[in-house]
Amino acid sequence: MIPFGYTRPADEAAALHAGATSGVAFIAGGTGMVDLMRLGVETPATLVDLNALPWTKIEKTAEGSLSIGALVKNSDLAWHPEVRSRYPVLAEALLAGASPQLRNMATVGGNLLQRTRCAYFRDIGVSACNKRTPGSGCAALNGDFVRMHAILGGSEHCIALHPSDMCVALVALDAVVHVRGPRGDRAVPVGEFHVVPGAHPEVESVLSRGELVTGITLPPAPFGARSAYVKVRDRASYAFALASAAASLHLDNGFVRDVRVALGGVATKPWRSQEAEQSLRGQRPSHALFERAAAAALKDARTRPGNEFKVPLAQRVLVRALERAGGIA
Ligand SMILES: Cc1cc2nc3c(=O)[nH]c(=O)nc-3n(C[C@H](O)[C@H](O)[C@H](O)COP(=O)(O)OP(=O)(O)OC[C@H]3O[C@@H](n4cnc5c(N)ncnc54)[C@H](O)[C@@H]3O)c2cc1C
Ligand code: SF4
Repeated sequence: MIPFGYTRPADEAAALHAGATSGVAFIAGGTGMVDLMRLGVETPATLVDLNALPWTKIEKTAEGSLSIGALVKNSDLAWHPEVRSRYPVLAEALLAGASPQLRNMATVGGNLLQRTRCAYFRDIGVSACNKRTPGSGCAALNGDFVRMHAILGGSEHCIALHPSDMCVALVALDAVVHVRGPRGDRAVPVGEFHVVPGAHPEVESVLSRGELVTGITLPPAPFGARSAYVKVRDRASYAFALASAAASLHLDNGFVRDVRVALGGVATKPWRSQEAEQSLRGQRPSHALFERAAAAALKDARTRPGNEFKVPLAQRVLVRALERAGGIA
């Protein structure tokens, strides 16, 4: 057991103050952090518990957006009437993630910042891992257990998946992440919040040290209402995605006026496919059109022996999500 300090700040100012020290880590639901501390992957000197902060509300804004606090539980968000009616893709993605017990603990902020499930990352002291120990190498690149690893957005330094279901839906909804830090507030489009590994797999998002996610905003329709999330996994009870897709369509007179497409389970970050979106705009929805869009979305995929199956799987999953969102399935 590695000793660590614990503090539960009563307000935002105290949380920001506590978070500014090196060796400090934030904890919300704890479903990811406690796991990684048990494995010795995370070894914070002090845990800053965010649970006394007031970011627990889901509220409509004057402009018609939906504002969601960072500490809202995944289950509460999934079952909220506004989410179910206006943003079904988000409700479906949340309910496809983890188990009911985990969803009751997991929070919006924690889900956004959950770390990869790469088996080598979690295997301390045995496997090289650039994400865990920068510069140590990547055991996955020539490893046997790459069935789950990324085929999009990887680098020669890391091919680990971003495992979140929720974030894939947020990308298809053009959500905005609200961040507060020692130098003030900023709003980051969710598609720009996570970063691909490149030469620095240890950097996973645009958050700087001491910055907190305070919440997210979902913009008003037209994207939300016609949307769907499809996930394929190894077992129905709970498992991370082998491939998933979120699609959100704005149809006008039977034609695709605008569209958002995002993939999960296949990429190093929640993956928006501009290629697929471009091939869909202005077209009349059909199975053949959706197949062309799915081919475009996966055209840059780079597989390894053991995860080649993800290309056709992700294509089929995306076709299915588009058909459901477009109302032709
Ligand atoms: C067995 C199992 C199965 C799972 N299956 C799935 C699945 O199928 N799909 C899926 O999407 N997820 C799955 N998960 C992951 C789960 O969704 C995440 O663990 C959870 O969402 C994390 O939320 P949390 O509040 O518990 O975060 P914590 O564990 O408390 O924190 C996670 C990270 O976020 C940081 N953090 C938390 N809140 C903030 C904040 N407001 N600002 C800044 N940093 C913050 C913490 O410092 C930490 O680094 C699974 C987890 C387990 C254990
Ligand atoms: S894929 Fe990334 S997380 Fe996994 S071992 Fe390689 S560097 Fe580490």
